[in-house]
Amino acid sequence: MYEIPTLDTSYQKPAAIAVLTSGGDSPGMNPAIRGVVRAALHQGIKVFGINKGYSGLIIGDMWEMNSASVTNIVQRGGTLLKSDRCLAFKDPAVRHQAAEILREKGIEALLVIGGDGSLTGAHLLARESDIRVLGLPGTIDNDIYGTDDTIGFDTAVNTALEAIDKIRDTALSHESLFLVEVMGRNSGFIATHVGIACGAEMIVVPEYEVQVDAISFQLANNRAQGKGSSGIIVVAEGPVPGLTYNLARQLEQHEQKPKVCILGHIQRGGSPSGHDRILASCLGASAVDYLCAGYNDIMIGVRQGKITETPLQQVIEKGKQLDPALFQRALLLHK
Ligand code: ADP
Repeated sequence: MYEIPTLDTSYQKPAAIAVLTSGGDSPGMNPAIRGVVRAALHQGIKVFGINKGYSGLIIGDMWEMNSASVTNIVQRGGTLLKSDRCLAFKDPAVRHQAAEILREKGIEALLVIGGDGSLTGAHLLARESDIRVLGLPGTIDNDIYGTDDTIGFDTAVNTALEAIDKIRDTALSHESLFLVEVMGRNSGFIATHVGIACGAEMIVVPEYEVQVDAISFQLANNRAQGKGSSGIIVVAEGPVPGLTYNLARQLEQHEQKPKVCILGHIQRGGSPSGHDRILASCLGASAVDYLCAGYNDIMIGVRQGKITETPLQQVIEKGKQLDPALFQRALLLHK
């Protein structure tokens, strides 16, 4: 369980705050909203829910939430507040207008739940206005610096595993090779974790160059060792669509006959795992404590079991890298 920091929550308690979810939705955003709302009400703070991320913020689409507003959402995937991508928020004049809208409603602070793009918007708003802005890492990709874990990652890994275990049955029955594409954009966190947990024959991630020869050799070696000719190769989607199909074509030139299966959006949906519900609830409630203690322009995350804060500037600039030791361990397990 998480160690919760002791903070002086009477230092700079805001009268009213707002919360939004932005960017790609992730399972666990709902328990995070619930954590924020329940902790704020406990402190006597008014909470507004903003619909559709920054798109709702810039037109003042928000509503006052009460304890009942977040009843029965802890187990639900997606986000009660809806999410969106809002290109207009990249314009400083639009952010200025957003701060004005919050001020008019007496809202002193904003909590943003989202991935690196959403946290970039949060940082800019904090820097350019007198609204205090805190971020929570809500993304299935786990690619956020300043936290060991992001809201939704655990659920996405488990969803992918459930699907791959089923694909494995077909792969074994037909002695066939499957390339299973998982999400993760530029990062191989989901692929590496899923690859280890499903016993993949190989894992392909954007951080390391694909070695088609090595994959082919590995598959031939497996056959020679009597492991059969079926297999699962977990492939991270990478920055542009179609990379898994390209890899399939390259493998065909090495006399393999891979089938491609793109898991896609099923990894984003579904009921959050117990792990994600607890993480999201603790982060959401702790974010309110940090606000009351006077913090601004930070992200609340979890490191080595402790709830911690990291300046949003660092979160954006540093980015989180896949641990090479973990990836090497995954490769060793293939053999
Ligand atoms: P995620 O938050 O999941 O990484 P996106 O990268 O699509 O998703 O970002 C979500 C939203 O965050 C964008 O639609 C935009 O409103 C806001 N955002 C992203 N990058 C910036 C930026 N550089 N400046 C201001 N706002 C941004």
